[in-house]
Amino acid sequence: MARKLVICEICTKFAVAFSNGNSPLKTLKEYELPLKTLPQGKHTFSYRLDSKFFSAMESDEIKGGQVVAEITVSVSGSVYELTLTAKGNVTIECDRCLDDMDHHVDAGYHTFVKFGKDFDDSADDMLIIPESDNCLDASRLLYDTVALSVPLHHVHADGECNPTMSDILQRHSGSESDESEETDPRWEALKNFKNFN
Ligand SMILES: [Zn+2]
Repeated sequence: MARKLVICEICTKFAVAFSNGNSPLKTLKEYELPLKTLPQGKHTFSYRLDSKFFSAMESDEIKGGQVVAEITVSVSGSVYELTLTAKGNVTIECDRCLDDMDHHVDAGYHTFVKFGKDFDDSADDMLIIPESDNCLDASRLLYDTVALSVPLHHVHADGECNPTMSDILQRHSGSESDESEETDPRWEALKNFKNFN
C-alpha cells in the first residue's frame, strides 16, 4: 500500500531514537494512526502496551507492564477527536524500599488533532501536526496517558516493603536524626564561651 511508504516527521524522529532497539520500525508502525485516510465517523484502535513498549519509549519510571489501551478517533470534517483509555498494571520502583511494585492504571486522555503548517502541541486540548504528515504516531500519547497516572510519590502498602531494605533505610535515617539531635559537649562548651563574650 502506498501510504506505508510515507513516514511522517514524528515517526522519523522515533525511528532515529529507536534505531538501536529491536525492530524499531515494526514497533512504530503499530502505533501509527492513518488520520488522512480515515473516513468520516468513529474508529477504534486497540493496543497492548507491554514491557517492550515501555522500554522502546525509553521510560525511566515505568519498567514494564500490561496495559490494554484504546484510541477512538472521531473524524468530523478536518478535525479529529481522539479519546484514549488505558487500563492495566505497570511496574514502577517503590520510593521507600526501591523494590518493584505494581501500579494499577485506569487512565484517560482527550484531545483534538488538526493538520496545520507546523507541529504545535502547546495547547492543552489541540494538537497540530504538519500538513505533510499522513499519520500520527500515537505512541507518545499512549505513553503519556499511562505515565501521568503514576503519582509523584509511590510506595508499597504498609508492611509490603522489602523488609531487609526497609531495615537498612530505617537504620540509616535513624542514625542521621540521632546525629543531629546528639549534643556534642565540646559544642556546648563553645556555645558557653561565646555567650560570655
Ligand atoms: Zn516498598
